[in-house]
Amino acid sequence: MHSVHQIVRRSFQSLAELVWPSRCAACEALGEEPFCRACAGALLECPPGCPVCGQPQDEALLPALIPRRCARCSEEPPLVHTARAPYVYWGPLADAIAAFKYRGHEHLARPLSSLLVATQAPRVDALVPIPLHSARLRSRGFDQALLLARHASDRLRVPMLEALERVRATRPQVGLSRNDRRANVRGAFTVREKVEGRAVCLIDDVYTTGATAEAAALSLLNAGARRVELRTLARA
Ligand SMILES: [Zn+2]
Ligand SMILES: [Zn+2]
Repeated sequence: MHSVHQIVRRSFQSLAELVWPSRCAACEALGEEPFCRACAGALLECPPGCPVCGQPQDEALLPALIPRRCARCSEEPPLVHTARAPYVYWGPLADAIAAFKYRGHEHLARPLSSLLVATQAPRVDALVPIPLHSARLRSRGFDQALLLARHASDRLRVPMLEALERVRATRPQVGLSRNDRRANVRGAFTVREKVEGRAVCLIDDVYTTGATAEAAALSLLNAGARRVELRTLARA
């Protein structure tokens, strides 16, 4: 069953495809997406890592078939049940994400969303984008996580739920200590949809420190969510 809303949106998508024919999201070569062969070959897959947060591990230390939790997750299990990203934030993918976020290439949401479904599909009741604060939304003009979640929702046939609202602007997390990162994002989100008893998957573009996702997960779990996962395009 497709709602009128979905049908209208899909028609606009087809129109957009005529205006923006398939191009590589990084070098803009015509014909292939999300990446041309050369750029696809230069992507760095995330190596096997911590079963919880995905932190890459030294393969020599990985006991066969039994992935171990990283030191951080063993010390204190994160609220996010599993965090997964297919690629390292590097090279052509970093270029594509920069074009998408900072140069207004909104149409890259659709091809890039294919990366979100490249790893094992989340078994959840809803996809929840990690929203921007309204001030940043105004300056950027669109919310990248919302667009990615919308396309991933179509691909996975899992409903999207705009359950979170960013009620407090936060500083960039780069260069902050672990405690400062937590303090920076504490209370940043409120929950505005019913999530009680639901398993949800947060959607964002890049996993950096995980602190923002932890703050989002805390709000969702406090609102009664059963489990919170995270999928991103890349891992910094
Ligand atoms: Zn390319
Ligand atoms: Zn970990």
